Amino acid sequence: MIPDVAAFQASTARTPLLAHLPHSKCPSCGLETLLGMTADSGTVLLETFDPLAPPTAGEIPPPHRWAANGHFAQQLPDSVDPRTACWIEHTAVCPALPLPIDQPALRARRHLNTERARQARDLHEAGIPEE
Ligand SMILES: [Zn+2]
Repeated sequence: MIPDVAAFQASTARTPLLAHLPHSKCPSCGLETLLGMTADSGTVLLETFDPLAPPTAGEIPPPHRWAANGHFAQQLPDSVDPRTACWIEHTAVCPALPLPIDQPALRARRHLNTERARQARDLHEAGIPEE
């Protein structure tokens, strides 16, 4: 059962890295992502990020910013404090999919993912296993 929205946001605002999300490869680009369960029993792929420098809600436009706690993930509402650390929905920055909106943070992350995917392809073609 997912906690109520206010408690969920409060907990994730204090400790945005509480999530214990399983790893999952994106079926479109093959990059490593994290799999969050949604309240409606669906799933969402989330970006991994540097734990010392998580993206913030002010950088990532809704509806592509998420909070995660345990195995659950939930979209952050428009009213969230822009300083809140957040997770980015992978499909918004997947190099195999079009950008949903042209926005600097999403464009930069998608560019980074394009490089990650290219490097993974190069390693694969050279017969070197991924880390
Ligand atoms: Zn992808």
